[in-house]
Amino acid sequence: MTYRFDIITLFPDFFETLPRVGLIGKAVERGLLSFRVHDLRPFGLGRYRQVDDRAYGGGVGIVLRPEPVVAAIEKARESDRSRVLVLSPQGRLWTQHRARELAAEVDQVILVCGRYEGIDERVARFFADDEIAIGDYVLMGGEVAAWVIIESIARLIPGVIGNPESLELESFERGILDYPQYTRPANFRGYRVPAILRSGHHQAVEQWRRLQALKKTVEHRPDLLLHSLYETRPAAPIWLSWLKDWILWLEKQYNKLYPAQKNRSEASHAGSDSETPTTEDANGSSGHSPR
Ligand code: SAM
Repeated sequence: MTYRFDIITLFPDFFETLPRVGLIGKAVERGLLSFRVHDLRPFGLGRYRQVDDRAYGGGVGIVLRPEPVVAAIEKARESDRSRVLVLSPQGRLWTQHRARELAAEVDQVILVCGRYEGIDERVARFFADDEIAIGDYVLMGGEVAAWVIIESIARLIPGVIGNPESLELESFERGILDYPQYTRPANFRGYRVPAILRSGHHQAVEQWRRLQALKKTVEHRPDLLLHSLYETRPAAPIWLSWLKDWILWLEKQYNKLYPAQKNRSEASHAGSDSETPTTEDANGSSGHSPR
């Protein structure tokens, strides 16, 4: 089964290398992926193949007309299992979640690249399945955005990436960022690789990585935490159970450092926090551990 990408653009040269290099090139050779680039110009109107015009209502800039764009979409669409995505900063934000959906649900994606002030609104509203932005910034054209979307879907197509297990561990897949990676040398200009990664203690390494993934997400993308809580409802995201494990671990360390008092009067004498229930033992069973 070949997964197909169709790109509609005024700059077909932009995509010359895409089907030839790296893992995508190999996947094309193996028949897993195929590409067709549709030059918008021949779909243009009249002798001069006009594809754009002034905006209704005035204002600066020109807009891509709907007739050539829709004609190109209609020519490109071949399968019932296809999606037409119009690229626009006004679109819905592209995410790993969406990439996964499209990799699984369809076998043809048609990407429509705008230029100038964009594409006549009727194309996105009535002739496309979705309007997609790759980020909160404005590019000069949709070509880079199309490339981004293609790479993010292509690597999820079975067989394109050698080791599919590696995909599951990556940023966004579990609702958080990936953990930081290190390689040789162990000491680079005095900056050392964290000792735990060289300890050979697999379980500790795994726990450390989970903690680092959470830490990095909190530092760089706290929004992802809320988002994944929402997206995985009613199930809890996996990182929530890691967080609970860490809280339990911290609680144990805390109880080791500050062992339980023999009796309540001693505890109150020692000036314990009157708001907090007295810790009953040093094993973390204080009655307020996360369940
Ligand atoms: N006037 C538009 C606006 O402010 O919303 C910007 C048009 S932009 C200069 C020209 C084209 O670049 C768009 O039609 C779209 O195809 C593409 N583009 C720019 N930024 C993009 C983004 N963040 N995501 C996806 N496509 C983008």
